[in-house]
Amino acid sequence: MPYLEIIQEPPTGGGVEHALFDFDGTVSLIREGWEKIMAPVMYESIAPGQEPTPALRQEVLEFIDESTGIQTILQMEHLVEMVRAAGNVPEDQILDAQGYKDIYIGRLREVIKDTVAALEAGEADPAEHRVPGSLEFIQHLSERGVTLYVASGTDQPDVRREAACVGIADLIDGGIFGALRTYKDFSKEVFIRELLEKHELAGPELVVFGDGPVEIRLAHQAGAIAVGVGSSPERDSVPDPARRERLIKAGAHLIIPDFSRWPELLDYLGLEGAPD
Ligand SMILES: [Mg+2]
Repeated sequence: MPYLEIIQEPPTGGGVEHALFDFDGTVSLIREGWEKIMAPVMYESIAPGQEPTPALRQEVLEFIDESTGIQTILQMEHLVEMVRAAGNVPEDQILDAQGYKDIYIGRLREVIKDTVAALEAGEADPAEHRVPGSLEFIQHLSERGVTLYVASGTDQPDVRREAACVGIADLIDGGIFGALRTYKDFSKEVFIRELLEKHELAGPELVVFGDGPVEIRLAHQAGAIAVGVGSSPERDSVPDPARRERLIKAGAHLIIPDFSRWPELLDYLGLEGAPD
């Protein structure tokens, strides 16, 4: 399998001027494995005190896969519906989406807090918590005058903090955005639409990088170049097969396992020349 897999020809027209990165799983590995924390929260909420059945496991894992990239609170809104539909929990004991989110985020924080603290104290190597080549690729885009953005479904203060931890925050000159308390005020969909409108872009001037079907689908629909990052947990520069499949289904033009061979990517995007 080549490093840069062309699934379908991306739209052409303008040169790339803007690049939008999803954060978790695309640039940062700090929250790697979040799915393994969310899934048990869902099993326990839907069928408390029971061993999850194979059907429940499948339903939950499929939902998590498909919703990767949307805001956590929206995933939890769906969980509320699943809890209600399963009928195992009396109505007055069903939490709201924020209640389930608090449980999930509490557990996730517990898992990542030592990593974040070590990174902030300069005691851990940020490169070990980044998707390979991501910093180098971002640096080169920045040198070529591409405006850079991060948009994440994770809460905004956390994304900003963790972007600093992995060493990319200062390079992201277009802004780092995440979920807000008034969560209806931020979505990747609105973000992409407003970006295109604000800069009067036709589409191909924007390239979107993401490991979730959500941002890839939105990028494709908006006429931007959609690059699926299929980084596997093994970090072996081979795309995870299931993730690759989902990204292709969502409309990815290109698939890369990570940014390890970033010069090829720059070249493909027409940005290989020395910065002027
Ligand atoms: Mg992601």
